[in-house]
Amino acid sequence: MSSNLVIVYHRQPYEEVEVDGRIEYRENKSPNGIVPTLKSFFGRFNSGAWVAWKEAEDPTDPGFDRVIEIDDQYGRYTVSRLPLSPEQVTSFYHVSSKEAFWPILHGFKERYNYDPVDWPTFREVNWAFAEAAAAEAAKGAIVWVHDYNLWLVPGYLRKLRPDVKISFFHHTPFPGANMFNVLPWRREIIESLLACDVIGFHIPRYVNNFVSSARSLCDVTVETREPVKPELGSQATALTERSLPTRISYEGKGINLQASPVGVDVDFIAEVAGRPETADKVAEIKEELGEAQLILSVGRTDYTKGGIEQLLSYERLLETRPDLRGRVRLMHVSVAANTNMVAYEAIQTELEQIAGRINGRFGSFEWQPLALVSRAVPFTDLVAYYRAADVAWITPLADGMNLVAKEFCAARTDGDGVLVLSEFAGAAVEMASAVITNPFSAKSMDSAISSALAMEEEERRVRMREMRAIVAKQDIRFWAEDQMQAFDSADMPEEAEIPAS
Ligand code: UDP
Repeated sequence: MSSNLVIVYHRQPYEEVEVDGRIEYRENKSPNGIVPTLKSFFGRFNSGAWVAWKEAEDPTDPGFDRVIEIDDQYGRYTVSRLPLSPEQVTSFYHVSSKEAFWPILHGFKERYNYDPVDWPTFREVNWAFAEAAAAEAAKGAIVWVHDYNLWLVPGYLRKLRPDVKISFFHHTPFPGANMFNVLPWRREIIESLLACDVIGFHIPRYVNNFVSSARSLCDVTVETREPVKPELGSQATALTERSLPTRISYEGKGINLQASPVGVDVDFIAEVAGRPETADKVAEIKEELGEAQLILSVGRTDYTKGGIEQLLSYERLLETRPDLRGRVRLMHVSVAANTNMVAYEAIQTELEQIAGRINGRFGSFEWQPLALVSRAVPFTDLVAYYRAADVAWITPLADGMNLVAKEFCAARTDGDGVLVLSEFAGAAVEMASAVITNPFSAKSMDSAISSALAMEEEERRVRMREMRAIVAKQDIRFWAEDQMQAFDSADMPEEAEIPAS
């Protein structure tokens, strides 16, 4: 019980690699994910801890130390590993979180699957996270909980430790009451979240939606409402809002709400973009392309990412614009998540079918219109593709933020390139200078890609300059500062005694 900052995140903050029978803890391969940013917070506090799960055949005798000390470039911190059985992981993570919560969070009621949810297991796992966090937190510590699979942690933790400050960050969209209330556990979830001192979301729309859901279930009062800052919605698109509640109260307690979009590590991306090996790779890609323009699409294989809708738009483009045949290529990277979910397999199969049909209908021995890439592209290679692309085509049906769109702009230190961005990606409220498109409209999708391919250099450069400025301003460090401010501005915890365990 000695950490001033406890981060509760479902994944461990490193990769475990076995070398000669010994476990080594290595930095995550993707240096651009959220994990390094979260770990960098340990440098700002006297002592830190991280709580995550680790699979164990027998959680009562897991065969690994529950708590270990890590000493890496981020400092010394404790990692508390909760042993979960494979059945608990499947139930809590793959079923409750991915089959029931994920579709509702993204507005896909028809994909919501209630039947397999085992609510007692979800509670049990969340309780275990809360207990582990309570065991690590010093008096008055900040406990920072991440994402919807840990929704019940704040409520449990508040009972165990009334003295700590609890901050919760949502990395996904948050739906309004009409959608959220499909979940039968809605009141329990909202009451748990209302035990927080701070709740953070990417954009004002998700804050407004959260408050609409909370008010439909509990007597929540909006204490302050503020206009949205211009950097979070200067232009009216599907996700922009004009004002947002910044403080609410429930049962006499104040809760600060925050719209704080996660950004990317602009300096790191610029450094990768400037490496000679990146330039070599870009030259290789361009040589392979010849005269053709490269359209790049990058995302996970998930119905929220709109891959099928995008391939259908590409098919229509080649159908209606014979002049583009042989003059354009689409690289569609769609990486499967490591779950065995039927819904994802079906999308993969459909993507392969449409891609095969497009290549068969329009391709030749010399020219293949589309490359479907299902394996993850290493980040350094991705930066080379970002730089070689004429157009980044990012058209999710729903997306909490979308970092690929920001990475593309950060990589374009040359100031060129067109971003076509769905207005249903959180990033769209910041990036009004993208070619904004509505992926639910075939007409909008088709005209956006056509005009992106035809855009004159001068316009491309003006738009890219504007997007790069906002991506650089609201980068990952900006988000980190915003989080620190949110911790500081939260109410002081009550002078309560820590209940004896
Ligand atoms: N990414 C990658 N290789 C790939 C595909 C994606 O490294 O082949 C990375 C990408 O650079 C980005 C992240 O995966 O940092 C995807 O984040 P995003 O917010 O766009 O989508 P999410 O998967 O979190 O919904």
